[in-house]
Amino acid sequence: MPNDIIIIGGGLSGLTAGIALQRKGRRVTIATSGPSTLNTFSGSLELFGYDSEDHPITHPLEAIADLPATHPYSKIGAERVAALAQEAQGILREAGISLKGDATANHWRITPMGVLKPVWLTLDDCLTSDDGCTLPSTQALIINIAGFLDFPIEFIRAGLDQMGVQTTICTLPIKTTQARRSSQYETRATTIARMMDNDETLRAFAEAISAACSNSSNPSEQMILLPAVFGLTNDTALQQLRSMVSHPVYVIATLPPSLLGVRLQTQLRNHFTQLGGTILHDAKVTAGTLRDNKIVSIATGYSETMEAHSYIIATGSFQSHGLVADYRKVAEPIFGLDIDANIKELSSKATGSFFEPQPFMTYGVHTDSILHPFKNGQPVSNLYAIGSLLSGHNTHHQSDGTGVSMLTALAVAEEIDKNIANNDTYSK
Ligand SMILES: Cc1cc2nc3c(=O)[nH]c(=O)nc-3n(C[C@H](O)[C@H](O)[C@H](O)COP(=O)(O)OP(=O)(O)OC[C@H]3O[C@@H](n4cnc5c(N)ncnc54)[C@H](O)[C@@H]3O)c2cc1C
Repeated sequence: MPNDIIIIGGGLSGLTAGIALQRKGRRVTIATSGPSTLNTFSGSLELFGYDSEDHPITHPLEAIADLPATHPYSKIGAERVAALAQEAQGILREAGISLKGDATANHWRITPMGVLKPVWLTLDDCLTSDDGCTLPSTQALIINIAGFLDFPIEFIRAGLDQMGVQTTICTLPIKTTQARRSSQYETRATTIARMMDNDETLRAFAEAISAACSNSSNPSEQMILLPAVFGLTNDTALQQLRSMVSHPVYVIATLPPSLLGVRLQTQLRNHFTQLGGTILHDAKVTAGTLRDNKIVSIATGYSETMEAHSYIIATGSFQSHGLVADYRKVAEPIFGLDIDANIKELSSKATGSFFEPQPFMTYGVHTDSILHPFKNGQPVSNLYAIGSLLSGHNTHHQSDGTGVSMLTALAVAEEIDKNIANNDTYSK
């Protein structure tokens, strides 16, 4: 048997589980297909941001202790969250990702809509506030790039105004042949990052920033705020830019596709493969064969059959088609796992406002206390569910999505490793 573990889905939860298991010396294959929600990543990871009354949480570890038994943190054990959060930070650091923050106290990020949100960890490049009131400077020069439409600068300015920051706005061109050739309707953060991955272009841009600073009315104390368009695979380009500009420089996430998320995913994938893991891209898992509540094999769209000792399903929620729905039911499409969902609620309890919590946001795969999902009322003994596929939490209203993804992945990795170690009949 070539694989100890097959992970279905290569988003944040699948990659975290894969890295944790490879670090323990297990042989892991990730079969994944389609984009993950990291494409919309803001640059910050969230552990637990808002309580049920929508109040921002300052100390997430304390608040997690009061969550209901159905929340994934309660299932893995609220008392383990601090240690698992540390382990998650260690994995991100090992993957070369520089972050600020920790689990004891939330800090604040500014969204592309100019709103502050409480978060756990933020990429070092990004603008943050420690207390939700003050920023590193009370004066900012916000710079956009000519032709780039995914940086809503007026919203950001309005948000900063409310925090008492005096702002100036300007737009600078990028001087490359490639920039002249590309249509402004196709200019995405990732396209600009490729253009900026060139010493000459970066230097010319830094010189344009310095000139804009000296023309500005508040040149002395101001911070420079840029869209996050630097560094597809690491943060070197921004570090270089910082060294060429005398003012402090920060980035703010753009509208999707998020370069920061693409970079995070690339760094985690590289770390996983460097540890010896295998990723099968464009490998959509279409079905699984079960016998006696155990998975025997899974099948991909290429009609391949794959086998392993244990399986992890990390296929995400509705956005990633880990869950599918119609007017009659919500379903998990690969194995037909049992779902915690109440379809009648959808019409009776759904609220009219898009921004209010909606019942479907907590729907997901039903699991036991060690995250075995169920099929026809019985736990599937060698399958584990992790990440946003799980029921009982609300990524959008509790701001707990990335924390749930990473921490359930680590808890399951520990459980599988222990099981394999204890299983005498299983030979490597
Ligand atoms: C719009 C949006 C914005 C968000 N922004 C943030 C943020 O800024 N900060 C934050 O902390 N959290 C954010 N979250 C939450 C966070 O992204 C998620 O909670 C978390 O990353 C989910 O990771 P995951 O691995 O569980 O699922 P996903 O990211 O959904 O990954 C699942 C992967 O599995 C693949 N897959 C699905 N079915 C199959 C199959 N049959 N075979 C093979 N592969 C399959 C999918 O294509 C996808 O690549 C956001 C969520 C959304 C929806």
